[in-house]
Amino acid sequence: MARKFFVGGNFKMNGTIESIKSIVKNLNEAQIDPNVEVVIAPPALYLLLVREHLSNGIEVAAQNVFDKPNGAFTGEISVSQLKDSGINWTILGHSERRTILNESDEVVASKTKVATEGGVSVIWCCGESLEERESGNTISVIEKQLSAVSAKIGNWKNVVIAYEPIWAIGTGKVASVQQAQEVHAAIRKWLKANVSEQVSAETRILYGGSVNGKNCKELAKEEDIDGFLVGGASLKPEFVDIINSNL
Ligand code: PEP
Repeated sequence: MARKFFVGGNFKMNGTIESIKSIVKNLNEAQIDPNVEVVIAPPALYLLLVREHLSNGIEVAAQNVFDKPNGAFTGEISVSQLKDSGINWTILGHSERRTILNESDEVVASKTKVATEGGVSVIWCCGESLEERESGNTISVIEKQLSAVSAKIGNWKNVVIAYEPIWAIGTGKVASVQQAQEVHAAIRKWLKANVSEQVSAETRILYGGSVNGKNCKELAKEEDIDGFLVGGASLKPEFVDIINSNL
């Protein structure tokens, strides 16, 4: 089964009402390859604004969700609140949340379970630090992250994996095509051995880390790269070139 190309835009903690409306206007007016699934993730405060203004078949994602249904959890947002607001996607396990906000593999796995069971699809992020890559531990770090999530979730249908080497995020240092393809192939191999052949064949694996309008086409050609999770460049007009990189 062919995997539909997928491009996510992670705005992180950037934007204002005005700048986000302008990004949405650009996207609404752009010629977008109909064979690409596009999901953008503005800061939580702007989720509804974006959902109301966006057309062109583009979906909206939160950047995080909590794993409890409701109650005394100040500052958090639940899966049912996302659903209530028409938000059908969330990013989980982004390295900035893993490192700055100390989210462990297990916390990320628990959130992934609650989101997918509650009908919110997940862009689940994994990736190694520079130190882990240089010490030859890239694949084992990612396999540990995969094991934690795999132990919690039964259904991978609503999960898209984003491989994001931490050393490439926001640094301008994109992984080489070979480095990215090698890890993507290893993720697919792990899924085949530890989940199922079907999940391995059908799950989209995105690359993220300094993707821009110039480097996206080469990466998009690789067999196991099914799209991108884009940070900085998702705030710029070149995001449309990234969306259309598979044309
Ligand atoms: C990200 O935040 O997911 C990301 C990949 O950022 P950037 O594209 O800016 O490296």
